[in-house]
Amino acid sequence: MLKRSAALGLVAAFGAVAAFATIAPHEDATPLPPQALIVEPLALQAREVPAPPQYVREEQFQRGDTLAGFLGRLGIEPTLFGSLARTPALRALRPGVHVRAEVLADGTPKELSFLTGRDTLVRIVPDGERFRALEEQAPLETRVLMKASVIRSSLFAATDAAGIPDSIAMQLADVFGGDVDFYRDLRKGDRFTVVYELYHLGGRPVRAGRLLAAEFVNQGRTIRAVDFGSSYYAPDGRNLRKAFLRAPLEFSRVSSGFGMRRHPIQSGWKAHQGIDYAAPTGTRVRAVGDGVVEFAGAKNGYGNVVILRHNGQYSTVYAHLSRIGVRRGARVAQNDTIGLVGQTGWATGPHLHYEFRIAGQARNPLSIAMPSGLPVPAQSLAAFRAQAEPLVARLDLLANANVALLE
Ligand SMILES: [Zn+2]
Repeated sequence: MLKRSAALGLVAAFGAVAAFATIAPHEDATPLPPQALIVEPLALQAREVPAPPQYVREEQFQRGDTLAGFLGRLGIEPTLFGSLARTPALRALRPGVHVRAEVLADGTPKELSFLTGRDTLVRIVPDGERFRALEEQAPLETRVLMKASVIRSSLFAATDAAGIPDSIAMQLADVFGGDVDFYRDLRKGDRFTVVYELYHLGGRPVRAGRLLAAEFVNQGRTIRAVDFGSSYYAPDGRNLRKAFLRAPLEFSRVSSGFGMRRHPIQSGWKAHQGIDYAAPTGTRVRAVGDGVVEFAGAKNGYGNVVILRHNGQYSTVYAHLSRIGVRRGARVAQNDTIGLVGQTGWATGPHLHYEFRIAGQARNPLSIAMPSGLPVPAQSLAAFRAQAEPLVARLDLLANANVALLE
């Protein structure tokens, strides 16, 4: 009986793997591993000793919570608040942290535990008349999730609707930042698929990890990305990192809704040889590419302006800043903050005036093919394909499901 269920488990597991590996040559198929591997979970039955009457409660420490009020919510006996409050780990509790309490029927805590930002698990346990804290590496479990959504108003509205964490939305904007201007290029009906890691503790999701693969369909154009090494690549090995980012503004929840709306000062490129980005004062302005600060200061109509010189004949201009964050002659890397959005100079509202110049002439960046980073090196192509294939298969699965859903 045992042997039989073990064999069935193996077949099911192997079948699932095979579904994602259809391109692998058949002569590579190795014999099934020894069956003993699967038997282990069946040994779980032997439990005895009915626990003393106790319960488990989980509460989130809220902004404005006092420690006493919070411990009361966890069902802990008030006479113990004093000795619990002497535990430094509890005094350092931050709003937003979920605390799990195992409490006996008389209100005595058996254990309080919570996850720290360092991915460690703090456990507070009774120690005679006092309590002491133990800290250990949290046994996080990584799961891979796939989600898809459609843009109706903004990227964050779409990720919220699908329950995709903010950090994954940011990574998505980052990965495609060389191809898509998330302030100006997004259209209603654009859609995307993400494959990402989600860390769990005790079966509960605690935070997102890396974006492993993604697809973005922007104005009918499909771009795909697969995480490999230190960069993201298209499935054919082209690097998605470009010498210049499409948008000179950091993408964030606060400013993300702006580009989708029509703004009175938003005018076409031709009108004044640049692009205006309506954004709240204080929004981070970033260098679109590596370069050297050629000018940083006030200049008539531009107000506070930074001009960067890049490789080749390229330079970029960032005007109307409320604050300048760099000095003339400094080296900057792509994505470095060079200042903050403002309305200095001839500006009727807070916005960034951005120019892309070639040999000193303002050009429409949308009409220029931007140079890309290096592709996957030849010696890593086999490893890249092995990693990319199952991820691309997942993107295909969801893309098809998505289309079916939309039609
Ligand atoms: Zn302008």
